[in-house]
Amino acid sequence: MSFEIPSEPTEFEVLDARFEDCFRKSARLERLASGCRWTEGPVYIPSQRRLLWSDIPNERMLSWCEVSGHVAEFRKPSGYTNGHTLDRQGRLISCEQGGRRVVRTEHDGSLTVLTSHHEGKRLNSPNDVVVKSDGSIWFTDPPYGIVDDYEGIRSPQEQPGCYVYRLQPDTGELRVVVDTMTHPNGLAFSPDERWLYVADTGLDVGTMRRFSVDADGTLTGGEVFISCDTGFYDGFRCDTAGRIWTSAGRAIHCHEADGTLIGRIRMPERVSNLVFGGPKGNRLFICATSSVYSVLLAVNGVKPC
Ligand code: MG
Repeated sequence: MSFEIPSEPTEFEVLDARFEDCFRKSARLERLASGCRWTEGPVYIPSQRRLLWSDIPNERMLSWCEVSGHVAEFRKPSGYTNGHTLDRQGRLISCEQGGRRVVRTEHDGSLTVLTSHHEGKRLNSPNDVVVKSDGSIWFTDPPYGIVDDYEGIRSPQEQPGCYVYRLQPDTGELRVVVDTMTHPNGLAFSPDERWLYVADTGLDVGTMRRFSVDADGTLTGGEVFISCDTGFYDGFRCDTAGRIWTSAGRAIHCHEADGTLIGRIRMPERVSNLVFGGPKGNRLFICATSSVYSVLLAVNGVKPC
């Protein structure tokens, strides 16, 4: 498969001089794949030099090979997967909006259900997931997979709210760590794991909260860290300097670790999520509506992505 590369130069918009160190002016946006309905959950697998992502309404996962450029279906039906990440053993961890569960793909390809209920009730529809260095799995649980049949299966909400959870995969212990957000969505730790950032897509304005992470994994704080007047924050990632690269409507916004918006990348389609990848972790892969794009940057993402 080959896809048209946008003829317009990549539009890096510098709002603060510090952003100029983050990219080369010759860098161009590439469209790697298209023909999807709503791309989400990009994850880069270094050992295979492959990107996986979800095409949620089509209930499938696709893959793109960095060596050949070949695009293929990876899993169908996918259970309406959304977000993915890798655990410390390189196994794929996936949020299934249809199955209302978090699953792990073992190295032999079999699926293990990690969690599906909290206090005897089904989860809403796990959306995005990240693994901490201690192996704990943190995920968000808004209702987007159960409100209608578009991104999942219409069904009643059983949980009293939409929470952020922490799962201990060895014991199965599942704990609510945030219960003060409307629709928690994308999430990421700062490189030193001192902070956890969580986006909320359930308010009138796109907001991202910042929680302080204690040594035992307890969260405190949770103030609104940044907000967006041009769309919602959905998925996002940090680079090694602690900058936050986030979806923000039809753009990617880059914030310094202190929250300052320093630059934007304008995109041809509305962005849902992104991930750093490539052998050096300096290639940004972007899920945007019908397509997957990439651009090579002058920064490196936190690994594992
Ligand atoms: Mg999301």
